[in-house]
Amino acid sequence: MSRVYNFNAGPAVLPREVLQEAQRELLDFKGSGMSILESSHRGKEYDAVHAEAVANYKQLLGCSDDYAVLFVAGGASMQFAMVPLNLLGAGQTADYINSGAWAGKAIKEAAHIGQVHIAADCGKEIPTAAELKLTPGAAYVHLTSNETISGAQWKTFPETEAPLVADMSSDILSRPFDINQFGLVYAGAQKNLGPSGIALVVIRKDLAERAAPTVPTILRYKTFIEENSLYNTPPCFSIYIMMLVSRWILKKGLGPLHRQNADKAGLIYALLDAGGFYKGTARPECRSDMNITFRLPNETLEETFIKEASKQGLKGLKGHRSVGGIRASIYNACPVEGIEALVAFMKEFEKKNG
Ligand SMILES: *Cc1c(COP(=O)(O)O)cnc(C)c1O
Repeated sequence: MSRVYNFNAGPAVLPREVLQEAQRELLDFKGSGMSILESSHRGKEYDAVHAEAVANYKQLLGCSDDYAVLFVAGGASMQFAMVPLNLLGAGQTADYINSGAWAGKAIKEAAHIGQVHIAADCGKEIPTAAELKLTPGAAYVHLTSNETISGAQWKTFPETEAPLVADMSSDILSRPFDINQFGLVYAGAQKNLGPSGIALVVIRKDLAERAAPTVPTILRYKTFIEENSLYNTPPCFSIYIMMLVSRWILKKGLGPLHRQNADKAGLIYALLDAGGFYKGTARPECRSDMNITFRLPNETLEETFIKEASKQGLKGLKGHRSVGGIRASIYNACPVEGIEALVAFMKEFEKKNG
């Protein structure tokens, strides 16, 4: 069996060990004689998986008992709606920082539900704390920690009076951060944590009390907290994979993983910084360690680049359809050897076409 190097933005590469473990356990989960896919979500086999997933993510994120770790179906886009539904009361204003495409989607959704103020409108960039125009008494401040499409990433998070809410879909657990600075963090799992269609949500429990009585039960954070994400049948297999990924991250250690991510990104950025043929598209102060975006001298060369890279087993390098260019998504599970192969290919391609 041959595995390629996968640079897809999401769904994205998963740790090989995780896939192998899932494969080994697929038909007979821990001697139960059935697959975890076929097991009851109230049974002891799944129960242990669920409990370990919650405990591991709590540990990885350094959560005190003031916070709850939730698994919510629907991905990050569902959270674009659930956050304002639960946290934005009538007559209140939520501050949103517009840093690009994903922030824009979150804003659009929140505006369906309540009053939204754009605290900074910076196109594809990350604003400085001084550039933020925050509303006194805002319900919360929302930011997107890593803009997956443009490749811009917050390097430090702003101090805000209102609870800070972050869409961390594409960089959660790629680096340590202080959860106590946030009221709520959510992440679609398909970049750094597991399969698509599910989000990890970490919420300071008191915020879940805010939802109006008209919010449907299934859309309330309070329901998820009270029922430990088992109000209805959860995406059990996805949570199982997320549990295996959490074990993998714990084994690696968040600190070493962060250093490795910075080193991996550095290998590609060094080539972009050398100037000439490849040009990075994100501002150096806020360029992402997860999604590296760049252009070649023209679009014809970009097409050739993507085709030839694919032939050599370097897949998923096409930039998002809205911006074009090249994007290498190099999440936690993307191996260093993949980056080295990409860098070697880039040097060779430049030699031939530069
Ligand atoms: C991928 C992504 C999303 C969308 O996630 P879905 O799970 O498809 O809804 C939202 N925000 C960011 C930053 C993303 O990278």
